[in-house]
Amino acid sequence: MEHFTFRCVCCRRIRPRNLRVKNQHYCGDKRCQQARKSKWQREKQQTDPEYRTNKKESQQVWKQKNPDYWKRYRRQHPEYCMHNRQKQRIRDQSMQMSGSCEDNLVKMDTLNLFLKGNTGSYFICPADSDLVKRDALAVKIIPISAGYKHLAKKDSIAPQSMLRYGKS
Ligand SMILES: [Zn+2]
Repeated sequence: MEHFTFRCVCCRRIRPRNLRVKNQHYCGDKRCQQARKSKWQREKQQTDPEYRTNKKESQQVWKQKNPDYWKRYRRQHPEYCMHNRQKQRIRDQSMQMSGSCEDNLVKMDTLNLFLKGNTGSYFICPADSDLVKRDALAVKIIPISAGYKHLAKKDSIAPQSMLRYGKS
């Protein structure tokens, strides 16, 4: 049976094998195919100097033909700019946290300090991600007022004490 199915390295699901694809690692989902393609491009970029040169040249040609593209895009997509600014803020914050902290206690204090003045929607993304390529998880962060703290302890994913004192 395992000849007819495989586990997609992107979505981790068991999928039927496409018999026309040799050594299939990715399923046909759009997201997984995009991941396959960008992995291929990344590897090509790292190993093939000719590919790098061609890419750079075609980007320069494109840029000359479309000098105002990004300016226009940002003007027409204010939500894109807002998301990027938020993601940048999170990245700045996590850089500060990972750079200057020695233990979880300090990290939680920094996080609390950050959350105090910043209610709103955020994107959680890997610390090394770049702006456009990676997926991000959108979350809303709402501070819990003092009166509800006992509730929060019961309901939150990790109890407060665990967060405060690091790994249990
Ligand atoms: Zn997949």
